[in-house]
Amino acid sequence: MTTTTSDQVSSTARHIEATEAYAAHNYHPLPVVLTSGEGAWVTDVDGKRYLDCLAGYSALNFGHSNPRLVARATEQLSRLTLTSRAFYNDQLGDFARALTRLTGKDMILPMNSGAEAVETAIKVSRRWGYEVKGVPADSATIITMRGNFHGRTTTIVSFSDDAVATTGYAPFTGGFRSAAYGDIDAIAAQIDDSVVGVLFEPVQGEGGVVLPPEGFLRDLRALCTERGILMIADEIQSGLARTGETFACDHESVVPDIYILGKALGGGLYPVSAIAANRDVLGVITPGSHGSTFGGNPLAAAIGTEVVAMLEEGTFQQRSREIGERLEVGLRALIGKGLVGVRVRGAWAGVDVDPALMSGRQVSEALMARGVLAKDTHGSTVRFAPPLVASHDDIDVLVSALADALEQGA
Ligand SMILES: *Cc1c(COP(=O)(O)O)cnc(C)c1O
Repeated sequence: MTTTTSDQVSSTARHIEATEAYAAHNYHPLPVVLTSGEGAWVTDVDGKRYLDCLAGYSALNFGHSNPRLVARATEQLSRLTLTSRAFYNDQLGDFARALTRLTGKDMILPMNSGAEAVETAIKVSRRWGYEVKGVPADSATIITMRGNFHGRTTTIVSFSDDAVATTGYAPFTGGFRSAAYGDIDAIAAQIDDSVVGVLFEPVQGEGGVVLPPEGFLRDLRALCTERGILMIADEIQSGLARTGETFACDHESVVPDIYILGKALGGGLYPVSAIAANRDVLGVITPGSHGSTFGGNPLAAAIGTEVVAMLEEGTFQQRSREIGERLEVGLRALIGKGLVGVRVRGAWAGVDVDPALMSGRQVSEALMARGVLAKDTHGSTVRFAPPLVASHDDIDVLVSALADALEQGA
């Protein structure tokens, strides 16, 4: 079927209007309507192609329509999708074993969204505090980092310092204290007998790809061990090859007590999340004390098992390092040419645009006009996280589109 250009233009407008009219305005999307994707590229309803440099906030590390994941999911989709945990299914055991192998932990607890996995980590840490550490009843406290992003539930926004995420949602959940990100002395100063753990992102993604000071992860590991509290790493965005290692904690050869995983664990096909920890921690969970209708369902488990198998081959981590190096060289060359800051870890970059030149949103719009999709965060910062299947040429497309956007303006 062929369509005329005016039909296609009106089709873009129609989809945007319907979304704005009938879906709540909890996002402010760029005005592009996507209809298909393959690898690092997506296509809009007019047939225009874009390099996807957001990759579903790193859920799409393995690329759009990854053939291996699509094949496994399709096969499972027509066989068995949901049993509930009232019964066993023939996929969850294999997934759990695979993910314990990848994380080096004894057990996992599967959930669906990232926020649910963070909630799970909070509940498990508190229970561990009471039952194992001996924290006084009802006083368990978790130290969180300023500038954090851990999701959107009422409890999680209770320790967010982003007014946009918290305004109008009080009353908040107690039991959290905060310290400056990367400041080991500030964290140590907050520890008392009520503290059960430190919840942190090894790289603050939503914060603008903020890297902790060198040595912070090692120091935090040592501090948590010394004080007998849990090191709780939210690797939902930083994990699963994004930074060039399986986990961002690997950059300092550090193993946290709890890994929180999500996003790429479902390959961008399906929401799959989990926490992984040893038996002394996850063993506090007993039947009925936590759960989810969809958590650990056979479709999720089948996809997750394939994701782990792909990560165990190490090729995506390697690829992330390779394209990441090229990305870093390209972006650093733009410092002084519109950029005032560049932070890169693997194939993950945050760039600060000279605020006198353009806002982050304007840069995103200018990039879109040049066939590159990216997302601004916090004013003048733009993030880049291309799918790890992106080629060197794709990275060059991204860098030259950014150079041109900064030079020409929106
Ligand atoms: C995206 C994200 C979450 C929340 O995941 P959802 O699937 O959106 O609930 C939590 N923590 C981090 C670090 C994230 O990037």
